Amino acid sequence: MDLILRNACRLGAEHGLADIGIADGKIAAIEPRLAAEGATIDLGGRLVSPGFVETHIHLDKSCILDRVKSEKGDLEEAIGEAAKAKAGFTPEDVHARATRTLEKAILQGTTHMRTHLEVDPGVGLRSLEGVLPLIKDYAWAIDLQICVFPQEGLLNNPGTDELIVEALDRGCRVVGGAPYVDSNPPGQIDRVFELAREYDIDVDLHLDFGPTADGMDLDHVCRRTEEYQYGGRVAIGHVTKAASLSMPAFEAAAKRLAEAGVALTVLPSTDLYLMGRHHTPDHNVTRGVVPAHKLLHHGVNCSLSSNNILNPFTPFGDCSQMRMANLYANICQVGKQADMRECFNMVTQRPERLMRLTDYGLAVGKSADLVVLDSTSPEMAVAELTPVLYAFKRGRKTVSRQSAILHRPQ
Ligand SMILES: [Zn+2]
Repeated sequence: MDLILRNACRLGAEHGLADIGIADGKIAAIEPRLAAEGATIDLGGRLVSPGFVETHIHLDKSCILDRVKSEKGDLEEAIGEAAKAKAGFTPEDVHARATRTLEKAILQGTTHMRTHLEVDPGVGLRSLEGVLPLIKDYAWAIDLQICVFPQEGLLNNPGTDELIVEALDRGCRVVGGAPYVDSNPPGQIDRVFELAREYDIDVDLHLDFGPTADGMDLDHVCRRTEEYQYGGRVAIGHVTKAASLSMPAFEAAAKRLAEAGVALTVLPSTDLYLMGRHHTPDHNVTRGVVPAHKLLHHGVNCSLSSNNILNPFTPFGDCSQMRMANLYANICQVGKQADMRECFNMVTQRPERLMRLTDYGLAVGKSADLVVLDSTSPEMAVAELTPVLYAFKRGRKTVSRQSAILHRPQ
């Protein structure tokens, strides 16, 4: 074996400890007291899970707090400020900021990532040129794919469509959108699906991002998903409008998503920050975060993701998927242990399914893309927000972190 992780508490089999043998980048054996030779790390009963999967993060516009203002703190201001900042983006500048954010994510145990990247006549392909090299340069630590999308409208923004097509020709593997800023939201959705079919790639849309349930595009996306026979290949992010639905309407929407095979990504940090700004001070502020664990109960696949890091959409961010799971569980009042486990699943195996990864999992034959957490169960890892002690990509150690040491008085 190239590496043996001894005394591992494996996700999904936490009742007993086993050894994980890794050879040629893959998990070669899992058994108690594995009789094999090789470099060894004794995990002392700590939790081993497949690496974290981030389905929705914007590397290109991360780390720009030094050049934007965030005074109103609403979506309109965030889009406007980001657009102004984008005008000054160069490939080198994007590359430097995206690198910083990507390395942070790797240090938090993320082994697979879908980054959403903007093209429009303002920024052209400069962000793409900054991010594209990272796919190869960081392949030793993370599988990175790019979802190209128009943040400033498609049908109302001449020249954008051509840039999306060029970005797809240059290696973007997913096509997305933000119909809520388009003069013709259903028209944008239709064009995104056309492109997806033409390139045989998946769809991942920013959708129904607003404080009330008015004018939702969710049904239109489900209809197109069915027409294109794209079930399992479509994800929608935010959908904060669904947080304002009555319970019967929410359940109907859940059923619709499950039937169509449309997955949903919740972006709790951004949503918490941007939603509910329209309330007067004498009202409770709604949280504007979709209760994803309740959608799971209806068969919808869901993931949790960071979305924005240190920009006017979200002036926070450490790229920790564990923190997203903990934050989500806290604000959505998750208490049942089964749902707490699902919060962990929503940053691991559920986004795996959303991204249709084929080589992921804690099983013999799968790629050894693993994290070790200072915990003994996923529920406790979420509850306690436990740190990542190790990350491995294709069996090679990419991250290590020491447990904190308490220095008692003599
Ligand atoms: Zn986003």
